[in-house]
Amino acid sequence: MKLNDALRIKTEKRIAAMQEADERRSELHARIPRVKEIDELLRDIPMRSLVGESIEDLRSESEKLNQERARLLSACGYAADYDTPKFECPECNDGGYCGLKLCKCIKAMLATGNYQESSLAHGLIDKTFESFSLEYYAEGREREQMEAILSNCKKYAEGFPDANKAAGLYFYGGTGLGKTHLTAAVANTVSKKGFSVIYESAQQIVDTLDAVRFNRADVSERKKYEACSLLIIDDLGAEFITQYSISALTSLIDLRIVNGKKTIISSNLDHNGIKKHYGERLYSRLLGEFRVLQFVGKDIRMQKIKGGNN
Ligand SMILES: [Zn+2]
Repeated sequence: MKLNDALRIKTEKRIAAMQEADERRSELHARIPRVKEIDELLRDIPMRSLVGESIEDLRSESEKLNQERARLLSACGYAADYDTPKFECPECNDGGYCGLKLCKCIKAMLATGNYQESSLAHGLIDKTFESFSLEYYAEGREREQMEAILSNCKKYAEGFPDANKAAGLYFYGGTGLGKTHLTAAVANTVSKKGFSVIYESAQQIVDTLDAVRFNRADVSERKKYEACSLLIIDDLGAEFITQYSISALTSLIDLRIVNGKKTIISSNLDHNGIKKHYGERLYSRLLGEFRVLQFVGKDIRMQKIKGGNN
């Protein structure tokens, strides 16, 4: 792996950790309004020292606010560091450097070289079958359907590559229904078994194929999509759809089917959406070669924010 790639992956992780912390903070603010007030007060404290308030007083005020915040969090069942970013590397906070020196986490990535293929480079490593909770799905048909999907995915991953005759899985359903979680869980499991897995959004794949087409990237960048044991195409339909993207993605999927390689696609589009946006060829591939799993329920992220059962 090249240094630039390692640094890019680290930076993505850092951004993901910070975004997650932001989301968690919004959740706290929605659920405990006083925490929002406290955060606003804390934010203003450094400014107040500039306009001449006593540092002593401000320090003790800030301490009291922080204590109150911790008490509120604990009373509502949250850890005190609930909305603190969780960086993978505590040495460099996923910045890649300690002072002017490269951090040892980057050196380790350069040494192993196969980090990228672990597919876990995008904050997905904690998404496992065990951490997938069915409690966000309404009891009855909804939960039964998701139970069946969960068990299907588990079998697919544990028995990879032969457990399932289908060339792949096609996940569809609205945002926040667990598609990313389960694709990541499959990726983690398959990757741990030693298979090469690539997990990328449809947009990233199209961009890379485009770069290869115009000689801005090496042809090996295209080959990796063709050769990996499992390719996960996330968010098909969210990319900028052009005649080129349609033909590039369809050809890639076709080639993988012909070569007996497995592919998982997740999308907000149902069959008709695929037919409408990508045409007959991809539509018939999905029907013929993929096991189609429809995700149901209500947006889990919204449920968490609104304070449903957690
Ligand atoms: Zn580090």
